Amino acid sequence: MSDRFVSSMSAGDDDRFDRLFRPESFDDYVGQRKHTDNLRVFVEAARRRGEPLDHMLFCGPPGLGKTTLALILAREMGVTLHATSGPAIEHKGALAGLLTKLEPGDVLFIDEIHRLNMVVEESLYPAIEGFEIDIMTGEGAYSASIKLPLKPFCLVGATTRTGLLTSPLLSRFGYVMRLDYYSVEDLILIVERSAKMLGVAVDPGGAVEIARRSRGTPRIANRLLRRVRDFADVLGTGRVDEAIARTTAERLEIDDTGLDTMDRRFLRVIIEDYGGGPVGIETLAAALSEARDTLEDVYEPYLLQQGFIGRTPRGRIATKKAFAHLGAPIPTRGGSQAEFFDDEP
Ligand code: ADP
Repeated sequence: MSDRFVSSMSAGDDDRFDRLFRPESFDDYVGQRKHTDNLRVFVEAARRRGEPLDHMLFCGPPGLGKTTLALILAREMGVTLHATSGPAIEHKGALAGLLTKLEPGDVLFIDEIHRLNMVVEESLYPAIEGFEIDIMTGEGAYSASIKLPLKPFCLVGATTRTGLLTSPLLSRFGYVMRLDYYSVEDLILIVERSAKMLGVAVDPGGAVEIARRSRGTPRIANRLLRRVRDFADVLGTGRVDEAIARTTAERLEIDDTGLDTMDRRFLRVIIEDYGGGPVGIETLAAALSEARDTLEDVYEPYLLQQGFIGRTPRGRIATKKAFAHLGAPIPTRGGSQAEFFDDEP
């Protein structure tokens, strides 16, 4: 796991603040309206019928609010949320232990569900479909498989990329939801809300500055707010204004599009070492000494969304915007980059 500023995966201090800032109802959950509107309907329908929610999959980069939504669903349904993660369920017995603890309607949240081991995943299928699980009793010649009934529950899976899920698992979800990066306007609301919880005064200019540099990610916005508060307390007046937000970002080497040193190194390797690409992801991972998964889950999606890189069958390429951002001379048109260069004004 990366410890860089943008990594947006939750760790240590973030966990504590994630809990503090976490919205507890749909009304407090900022943005993603088309999804939350649907979820409200599913909650209402399930409540009226007295049934558990259908199984759901939330997909998107870390820090966009998947865990938060699972918590809100459980709260709105008046049930308990049991949170775990794919790698934490090491064997069938651990899964059976989890499933048999569930009360009717409870939400079982499995983060990083694409990382379940195959044996565990396969024993999850009958649990999701028919609310029963096969358990082995006895040993050797005396062993037998018995079916244990489970109470109807709702599985909420979270993953960084749906493409990582096996199709049998994917097909068992009744609703698949892809979370988008947040707009600057939404992030401003999140920063203002969190600032209130921290008891820190934020000027409109300060909130905009933090929102713009947060890579569309609430967790990063909250983390940046905390760092700006540090600088405001020590170097400023304690108030978060535009100037102190900018100073903080400069000190942390986050530029005004929200890219940090790692993002710029990512672009620089493609541009300076490989003439703009295409470069394979493994080559990039080796050049940047970073895990391939982290590049694909955390860095690439934002660079792609912002139009700094493009994906071709032969690898990643830097776009004209990336060359301009780094102040690098744009090579003559041709090769795989042509289509990206032509698309741009
Ligand atoms: P994920 O599970 O996708 O990694 P989380 O649900 O843990 O992300 O969200 C990280 C933090 O970001 C939460 O604790 C919360 O403080 C904040 N957050 C996420 N989504 C929202 C939102 N829509 N509105 C307000 N805050 C949010």
